[in-house]
Amino acid sequence: MKKILVIEDERILRQSVVKILKNENFEIIEAKNGSMGVYLARTQKPDLILCDLIMPELDGYGVLGILQQDPNTVMIPFICLTAQEDRASLRQIMELGASDYITKPFTRSELLGAIATQLGKRERLRQQQNLALLEATAKLNRLAYYDSSTKLPNQLLLREEFTKIVQLNLYQSQVVPLMILCLNQFQRFTYGLGTKSSEKLLQVITERIIVCAGIHSLVARLNEEQFAILLPKLNARKKIEKIAQTLLEILSQPFDLEEKKIYISCSIGIGIFPLDGNKLDSLLQNTTAALAEAQQMSGNRYQFYRPSLKEQSSDRFQLEMDLRLAVEQGELLAYYQPQLDLKTGKIVAAEALMRWQRPDSSFVSPAKFIPLAEEIGLVIALDEWMLYAACNQAKIWQQQGLNLTVAVNLSGVHFNQSDLSRRVVRVLENTGLEPQYLELEVTETALVQNQERAIATLQELKALGIRLSLDDFGSGYSSLMYLQQFPFDSLKIDRSFIQNLTKESKNEAIVTATIQMAHSLNLQVVAEGVETQQEQAFLSQHQCDLIQGYAIGHPMPPLELQKMLQLNQQTNQAISLKKAANNLSSLN
Ligand code: C2E
Ligand code: CA
Ligand code: CA
Repeated sequence: MKKILVIEDERILRQSVVKILKNENFEIIEAKNGSMGVYLARTQKPDLILCDLIMPELDGYGVLGILQQDPNTVMIPFICLTAQEDRASLRQIMELGASDYITKPFTRSELLGAIATQLGKRERLRQQQNLALLEATAKLNRLAYYDSSTKLPNQLLLREEFTKIVQLNLYQSQVVPLMILCLNQFQRFTYGLGTKSSEKLLQVITERIIVCAGIHSLVARLNEEQFAILLPKLNARKKIEKIAQTLLEILSQPFDLEEKKIYISCSIGIGIFPLDGNKLDSLLQNTTAALAEAQQMSGNRYQFYRPSLKEQSSDRFQLEMDLRLAVEQGELLAYYQPQLDLKTGKIVAAEALMRWQRPDSSFVSPAKFIPLAEEIGLVIALDEWMLYAACNQAKIWQQQGLNLTVAVNLSGVHFNQSDLSRRVVRVLENTGLEPQYLELEVTETALVQNQERAIATLQELKALGIRLSLDDFGSGYSSLMYLQQFPFDSLKIDRSFIQNLTKESKNEAIVTATIQMAHSLNLQVVAEGVETQQEQAFLSQHQCDLIQGYAIGHPMPPLELQKMLQLNQQTNQAISLKKAANNLSSLN
């Protein structure tokens, strides 16, 4: 049922319009003055607005002006009801952005006709937009998920499939084998045969691998030389060995290429989920170790991963113990990395990043200890520590006249805790920070575990007035269509797309398409990992909103960032003073 908002101060007229529309099965909301109308338009998101032009206080011009400024309401068709036939005022409302007008007194069919036209227009526009979004998303996914020379899935898609397998938990009692197949010294073919022929060779090799791996396996290209093969659940080691053996045999048969016979040599490393790694990264790492062992035994061999188990687990145990102590002994530090607004040249936000400094002053990377903390459940305590530290710091900066939003990372484990928003409120109350200065960064993996709950949690946080941002966009599921359901304010394009941005046209295409689509969904775009001036210039040219990366500043202790902020403020003041002076002198 279409929802129509009727804004009209004359009761009798309003009621008669409402009656006609109700008879036509429209859902109606009524406003008896302009302010009420604006409020209802914003909160109820009607499909169409009928608005009287002449009203006391806020009149129809005023209502239209406000709604046109708001991205959430600008697209709603707006029909003016007017007694004026004075052409100048009709022109004025059309110029303000009205879709149509009807002059009073009007007939029932005039009213319904105007409404039908606008609703039809709007529907067609919406369909067009959805189609464009779908097409662009498909293109983006093709670019982002597939290797261009073999048309095989790349590591990103492999990661996604792997996550699905783990999350569906279909294989609780089973194991999933992963193979890494390496074409040993494949570059020599690129040199020897030239790019075109070696690409052809690569395609026939790919075909043989796909046929041999079977339709239930996923074959992905990891890099120039390596393929990953995710086999279907298989319990028997014998069966896995058989497949590896067959792959090696088939690939050792010569390839006929341009009347030449070409022989290649391969090695295979095999790792098994979850025994040799319960995350893709650890599984890939161990399988790569197995591959290295296979390569040492000369060509055409396979090798299962053999953990030097004792050594490994004792290392981990030690790390776990130390990490638990680190929290108590105050070895954690909050570093901050600035985010620059490309339009204004101002530093407007900073991401809080955790550092663990051990008693011997060495730093442990969060990339190493956060995953461990997630596994042992300690990450909730770490995240809360950081949330408090960052809010507190933002308040201190504010008191020094430096207004800055702080962005805090939320681990998926923490995000899926039931009392999250209550905890956040407590931190805001204790530190006195206003919610609009806090941004929470969530990754897509945190959302997929339970989508409905994720939406509810995000809405709760949003209702507190906190900003929400989607972290590492592009490294996971990355369907913008699907993201539309989540109330994010901004999106952070993953570092992997920004790296080599200006050297790889594929990344350029992905980044520009992402920026455009994000903007069409009213999302602010932050690019992370910006390291060079060229990357910065490219992003600026393509209307990216904020950038973060070594080009602006490394993550740094709060005092250092404070100095940088003060400098940034002075520079900006100097620039605006200079502009003002220029304006003055041009006036004189
Ligand atoms: P992230 O959220 O994607 O954070 C951005 C990472 O990129 C940071 O790594 C940052 O130092 C790095 N980085 C920033 N600019 C550049 C650049 O120009 N080039 C390159 N190569 N790297 C850049 P860091 O600090 O090592 O953190 C790694 C990850 O650990 C973070 O990735 C985040 O997922 C996690 N993490 C850090 N602090 C916290 C925390 O307080 N809570 C939680 N849950 N996770 C955290
Ligand atoms: Ca982050
Ligand atoms: Ca990130």
